[in-house]
Amino acid sequence: MKIEEIKELLGLTDEDLKKPLPKPTKWSQPYWDAAKQHKLVFKKCTKCGHIDHPPYLYCTECHDDEHEWIESSGKGTLNAYAVNHFSVPFPFWPDLPYVTAMVDVEEGPRMITNILECDPDKLENGMELEVVFQKRTEEFTLPQFRPVKK
Ligand SMILES: [Zn+2]
Repeated sequence: MKIEEIKELLGLTDEDLKKPLPKPTKWSQPYWDAAKQHKLVFKKCTKCGHIDHPPYLYCTECHDDEHEWIESSGKGTLNAYAVNHFSVPFPFWPDLPYVTAMVDVEEGPRMITNILECDPDKLENGMELEVVFQKRTEEFTLPQFRPVKK
């Protein structure tokens, strides 16, 4: 269904159809700044090496606050996924079917994300994925994933 048909059918405004955007904190801002530059980065504890994702104020393993930002290879594997065919918020209707997934990224974190540029019927747990950057606004670019082309 096209977005204009959805608006007409349900009497929605442009405001009703705006996709939600991230709400950065001061400790997650570097993640969003990097995404805008098409880099996937993680906050890594320099004391114990743990990577927290989403980025957190302090290390959730050792509670230290010394950290560095590391750039990810952008490679991952599909851990689990769901294909949404209906019942998602209005702004996502034009994207149906819409894939929500858990992706195990090479450096260790498990990300909740979307799988883009795929045939949902061909997804399989364990398949190789790569990061892809989707610009939503001038301010926000979202790291998401797609199958690695072979
Ligand atoms: Zn730590």
